[in-house]
Amino acid sequence: MHNFSEENSREETSLDPADWDGFRASAHAALDIAVDFLRRFDHGPVWRPVPQEVREALKEPLPVDERSLDRVLADFEANILPYATGNIHPRFFGWVHGAGLADGIIAEMLAAAMNCNCGGRNHGAIEVENTVIDWCKELFRFPSDSSGLLVSGTSMANLVGLAVARNSRAGGDIRKRGLKNYPRTLVAYTSAEAHESVARAMEILGFGSESLRKISVLQDLSIDAGALRAAIAEDRRAGLEPFCVVGCAGTVNTGAIDPLDEMASICSAENIWFHVDGAFGALAFLSDSLRPLFKGLERADSLAFDFHKWAQIQYDAGCVLVRRGDLHRAAFSMRPAYLRRASRGLGSGEDWPCEFGPELSRSFRALKIWFALREHGARKIGGVIERNCAQARYLAKLVSERPELELLAPVSLNIVCFGFRTQRLSAQEADQLNEEIVADLQESGVAAPSTTRVRGRLAIRANITNHRTRFSDLDVLVDAVVAAGRARTGSSTADVAK
Ligand SMILES: *Cc1c(COP(=O)(O)O)cnc(C)c1O
Repeated sequence: MHNFSEENSREETSLDPADWDGFRASAHAALDIAVDFLRRFDHGPVWRPVPQEVREALKEPLPVDERSLDRVLADFEANILPYATGNIHPRFFGWVHGAGLADGIIAEMLAAAMNCNCGGRNHGAIEVENTVIDWCKELFRFPSDSSGLLVSGTSMANLVGLAVARNSRAGGDIRKRGLKNYPRTLVAYTSAEAHESVARAMEILGFGSESLRKISVLQDLSIDAGALRAAIAEDRRAGLEPFCVVGCAGTVNTGAIDPLDEMASICSAENIWFHVDGAFGALAFLSDSLRPLFKGLERADSLAFDFHKWAQIQYDAGCVLVRRGDLHRAAFSMRPAYLRRASRGLGSGEDWPCEFGPELSRSFRALKIWFALREHGARKIGGVIERNCAQARYLAKLVSERPELELLAPVSLNIVCFGFRTQRLSAQEADQLNEEIVADLQESGVAAPSTTRVRGRLAIRANITNHRTRFSDLDVLVDAVVAAGRARTGSSTADVAK
């Protein structure tokens, strides 16, 4: 198929544009497409499915011959751009997605132009990452000799935090010999409401998810600290070795916040590593009024959080901070000959990011964070977080005012779990109905909530981590849920319970 002749290989043409002015024109056109797309953020549906013919068009065989950039751009505009996840829209309420920032497209483009490899070495991008990590230490009141690493997201940040916990507990030997020679069974603890990435980290690290104790929760869905104490004591009596407690600073289901200060005290009394999963919630530290809810977070041994959720920064951008930078480095550092540190030149520089996590080649994630924080400032981003929490309270109020709707979990932060109900349905039918309502809303394009289970019941879940959401968008959501529920049950207000 390919015919790489000797003649071809001697031709010294790079992959750069032959005509830079033409490239500039295409690049400007691409920027216009991006700006127009962002500017029209609430025109059109939140989400639309990818039509069959578009799927087919995207399924082409490996392209062998070249095409013009303008042709590729036109195909992008026709077949890819209209089918985004939808999280730039103010009525995207699913899962925990950030909405992205206009300046983010600039930062991403400029980072792409530089194309830095941020695994290490001595260059400006590393300095920017160090600055961003220093800002994180300052925000979360971590000591200056703590360490941090930008990663893809909190899943990876949880893995890194737990790896440091494991290695610092089991000593240097574990890197050589693995867990099998460790004399006792190591166990960890988290809330029954914790994100599954914690269990996955336990699996990847070789403990198995059974070694993660899922502690029961209180009425507000935060961990029962008494049950945590009891579980630790019971495991010790059984000869097991508790090594890590993972606190939730905002659970994914309902936004519940664990009693972090009390958990930190339990951990320091028991000599157990305290890791906090603050994926979205930790960013509430940017708000003076919300910060007190997270008291104790600043005592964590390691903290995982995302910039791509509540800080609105483009995907992907997560972070892990580790209080003891020396333990963090000891868990991952390798210095093979080809990564030897030179005393001068490009190969110099003290701490290389690749010594603090599993990845060697890394993108310049820090630049979009640096842009966003410098342009908008921490205060304004904190203001969005406060507004989103106020909007969640407003949504809860709207729910409580509608006889067809009921609130299924307390609103701690920015997540509202609720359901449509009628007297005539069994629990199972009600679950089914709410599942259908969510799909109806998503397919209609009017709003995109998601679902979860709260105490066994299927809930319509609205998460608000979106700087574009307006209070009126929540009126639209509630009206749409009620209309969809009525349409499916053929009910009128007269039928409903309350
Ligand atoms: C989103 C989330 C995660 C996973 O983070 P990713 O950035 O998606 O990897 C972990 N924990 C909580 C509480 C989350 O909300």
